[in-house]
Amino acid sequence: MLASMQSGLQPTVYGFKFGSFEIATVLDGKAVRDGLYPSFGPEHSAKEAQELCRKNGIDANRYVHPFIPTLVNTGKELILFDTGNGALSRDYPQLRGRLSEGRLVEGLAQLGYEAEDIDIVVITHGHPDHIGGLMDGGQPIFPDARYVFGATEFEFWKRGENVREARKFNLQLFQKLALPLADRSSFIKPGDEVAPGIRAVDAAGHSPGMLAYQVESGGKRLLIWADSCVHYVMAIQRPDWHLDVDDDKDKAVATRKRILAMAAAEKLFVTGYHMPFPGIGTIDRTTDGYRWVPVSYQLDL
Ligand SMILES: [Zn+2]
Repeated sequence: MLASMQSGLQPTVYGFKFGSFEIATVLDGKAVRDGLYPSFGPEHSAKEAQELCRKNGIDANRYVHPFIPTLVNTGKELILFDTGNGALSRDYPQLRGRLSEGRLVEGLAQLGYEAEDIDIVVITHGHPDHIGGLMDGGQPIFPDARYVFGATEFEFWKRGENVREARKFNLQLFQKLALPLADRSSFIKPGDEVAPGIRAVDAAGHSPGMLAYQVESGGKRLLIWADSCVHYVMAIQRPDWHLDVDDDKDKAVATRKRILAMAAAEKLFVTGYHMPFPGIGTIDRTTDGYRWVPVSYQLDL
């Protein structure tokens, strides 16, 4: 008898012990998009971008864009960083293809959690793929959670002033999905703690008030860098290249370089929302930039 084909079976959750915490990354989904170039580095030549891709064995024309929330169980609280795409691709046909269908809740179930178990939802920034899983049909997906937003980020979307044209639809989404949660939210700034051992780090640039988070337990440190780097080759090997979805391009470059320098110098583990699943790695400095090094077994020891 012929064995049935089983293609496409890939892991979607990855959990590990981290000091006295447990951490997991969950693949909410992945989209296949066209054109790494000129999304990345439009101020450079196509030839230069193609050469960089060729050296790294990837296609400059098509790429996989994963969406990977991070979950931290401190032993006292279950904290979710970002909520994936939720029902956006179902509710808004114009987003189909660009955003995948949100599967975060199924991922949490694989880890043994229900949506009701989440104590705190932390939103790193207000872009659609991070807030899409906050609500469905006007109801919060994590009904018992309280919320943490960066104060600057929340204020920006709440005011809705000076929003660039490409983010006008994003503004509507934020006002629909995040603003109604304001009375269950706290608003923090860089340096503030979400819980003991989890501290916000300024990462503004990709969005007006994006926050990364440093997680420390038992002498181990991990950086949840959100969208500081959005592609594991383009953004990390060429951190000064512009990116179309960075809201303030120059500030995003400066932030990217600062975050990469910190991750490399301090040998931090990193979880990156758009890195290849499981989205966990370390950063090596190279002669002309940095390099994403996926974890192997370091977190198992
Ligand atoms: Zn994103």
